[in-house]
This record gives sequence, C-alpha cells and structure tokens, in this order.
Amino acid sequence: MRLLPIVTAIALGLGASAAVVADDAPAPAPTRVAVRAAHLVDVKAGTQRDNPLVIIEGDRITEVRYDGQVPAGARLIDLGDATLLPGLIDCHVHLTGDPTEIKGDYYEAVLKRTSIDAAILSPTYAKRTLDAGFTTVRNVGADDYVDISLRDAINRGDIPGPRMLVSGPPLGATGGHADGTTGFSPWIEFHDVNGVADGVDAIRHRVRENVKHGADVIKFMASAGVLSAETSVGAPQYSQEEMNAVVDEAHRWGKKVAAHAHGAEAIKMAIRAGVDSVEHSSLIDDEGLKLAKQHGTYLDFDVYNDDYILAEYAKKGFPASTIEKEKMVGRLQRENFQRAVKAGEKMTFGTDAGVYPHGWNAKQFAIMTKWGMTPMQAIQAATVNAADLLGMTGKVGAVAPGYYADLVAVNGDPLKDVSVLEHVGFVMKGGDVDRNDLKR
Ligand SMILES: [Zn+2]
Repeated sequence: MRLLPIVTAIALGLGASAAVVADDAPAPAPTRVAVRAAHLVDVKAGTQRDNPLVIIEGDRITEVRYDGQVPAGARLIDLGDATLLPGLIDCHVHLTGDPTEIKGDYYEAVLKRTSIDAAILSPTYAKRTLDAGFTTVRNVGADDYVDISLRDAINRGDIPGPRMLVSGPPLGATGGHADGTTGFSPWIEFHDVNGVADGVDAIRHRVRENVKHGADVIKFMASAGVLSAETSVGAPQYSQEEMNAVVDEAHRWGKKVAAHAHGAEAIKMAIRAGVDSVEHSSLIDDEGLKLAKQHGTYLDFDVYNDDYILAEYAKKGFPASTIEKEKMVGRLQRENFQRAVKAGEKMTFGTDAGVYPHGWNAKQFAIMTKWGMTPMQAIQAATVNAADLLGMTGKVGAVAPGYYADLVAVNGDPLKDVSVLEHVGFVMKGGDVDRNDLKR
C-alpha cells in the first residue's frame, strides 16, 4: 500500500529534475497530512483538549496544534465531531490462534492442527486487531516462532497488522502450563518448538535460543494455568532459583520479562525475581501488592475474557475441570483488580486475546471501569503505561511530536463511556490510514 505513492514520488522527482545528478538531488519531502477532530484525549496530561490538529510527515507526528491552521500543502483528514486518541496497545495477545477455530471439538484443534495452520490464519487475526484500533501489541507465547515470522511480515509491509513485540515459545516446567502434552498418553509426542525447560542451565539456554531467533521479550510460566490440564490453578511451577535465572538471563540480553502467574505465591516469587510484568495477577494478596509497588512491577489483569470463557467454552468441548477453574478464578481476579487500583499499583492493559476472539480487545475497558478505574485510567493503561512497560515511550502510546502517527478516533466521549472504544471509526498506523468510517 505504501509502495505506490513512494514509487510515484520518485518517478515525478526524476522527471522534474532530469538534469540534476541523482546523488545531489534533494530527497523528496515526505507527504504532509493534517488530521482534524473535535477532541483529543491527552493521555500524558490526563486531560481532554478541543480542536486538535495533528500534523504528520511520513510515519511520524511532527506537531499537535490547536489554532485550526492547516499547514500549506498538507492533505487534510477531517474527522468532524470525533475524539482522537493514540493508537491503543494490548500487552497480552496470542495472534496465532482464535477460539472460533474450535468448533465443538477441543481435541481436534489440539491433535490435528499444526503451526502451519496457525501461520495461515494469524494474518487475519492481526488485521482484525489493527482494525479494532490496537496499533501495537505484545504477543506473549506462540509455538514454532510463528509470532516472529508474523511480526517480520508486518514490519516488511507484506501484510497489514499492528506493531508487534513477540516472545516466541514461553518457557515453563515439564508438566506445566507451557507443556502441551500434559495429560496425554506418554506415547504421544509433539515435535514442535516449545519452551519447556527445567533447571537453571536449561532455562538460560532456552532464553538464549529465543533471543537468537528474534524474540523481543521473554515470557515464562511462573504458575499453573486455567486453560491447561494441571489440577492446580495457582501453584508455582518454577523454583525461586529458576525464576531468578529466567530474569537474570533475559535482562542480560536486554529483554524484558513477562511472567504468567495466577497464584499468590507464584506472583510474589516472580516479582522477587525481578520480572517486568505479572500477567493475569488473579489471586494476588496484600503482600504481593506491596512487593509489586516496591519493585515497580506492572500488573496486568485480563479481566474481560472470563465472560467469554464461561459463555462459550463448554460448547466448544473444553474439559469440565477447566470451566470450573475459570469460575473460581474469574470473580476473584476482578476483586483483586479493584484492590490493585485502590492501592495505586502500576497497571497496564493486556487481554489474552486469542482466548476470546481477536478484535474484541476493547471490551476489557468497560470491565476495568466497572471494577474501579476511571475511563482515563483505563485508557492510560492501554497507552502511556503500556508503552512504558514495552520500553516504547517516545514512540507509541501518546499523540505528541516525534511519536509514530498511530491514531484512532471514535464518535462519542470515551471519558464518559469508555465502551465507545469498542467501535473505533478511524485507525491510522505509522501515517497509513488502515480504515476510516468517519469520512466527511
Ligand atoms: Zn496468554
């Protein structure tokens, strides 16, 4: 999509200055675009401003002005009464799968599909995510490095999709949440590239493998999971020594660490090990909240997907034990989310999309405000805070000079009713318009 204008510009430039030696020719000025709307949610200041005009050159924002003056030569995109926000960020997705693939037979999905199926379908999920206004995602867990190929295809411009930070296969203990053969016959073997690693040396080696193959972030399973076959939901699955090794090794290579942890003890062990974010955080206790604050650890509560799992997963043939675990954890997770908000913890936005359909990411905002956040806090969790966790402050998560031109717009006031973000009408990523239903 970007190729055509660039090629045209080069052709025009050459035609107009045929006598000039190519080496001395000035680079053609990037196309200048001005995006106008009625309001802008300023996530850094925590305020809303009226009559913004966002000036974009190439893939970056160069200026945000409020005098209504469209610079000479700029192409105007007028979004009328809409409210502009920075492109949204989801810090916990799995773009290589979607529950709609499982049509009543859970084991068909587990036993008859491969990563090639995942690779074929993942561009569709990436596009749905971008269309929903999520211009950056952190993909925390995919077998066979499908996530790395997906990220690279998007970065090359081969397919549309959000900016992706990816983990590759998540690390975890034998028999734990990262071990896909738990509960199967011992004679069944999967030949996928997964993240199962036990003991300090094997863990360090596994981290290095992920880094070698292009992971941006390291994900590991500190505790048991809900949607896998172990009996306990919360129990730690690595020793303190093993968790320390994951974090020490990842940080040495300059990679942040995301820990999957439901249980109170596993959450505290992960925080003590120095992880950058705790994912799920479901059963966090007071001591865990205190520790997270001391260490500056981001907490991510995926508080929406419980509704979807309880409504749909029994129909999909998931084991009854899984549904029972979800019932137990879901309610407690929302109560603990509320306690974390009250305690003033560092909170981000991660949904576990892939557990529920891609493109529904914004449904989590309404649950976050129902359980104690203001709409502004929920939006900040998915913008400035998320960018900070991802190490992308200055690039994404705000509408400001120097940032990527990642913008979304909605009709209605997201600071009054945050659920309007479920119906984003305009999406721009890096200066390219992905979709615009707000055309005037
Ligand atoms: Zn997940």
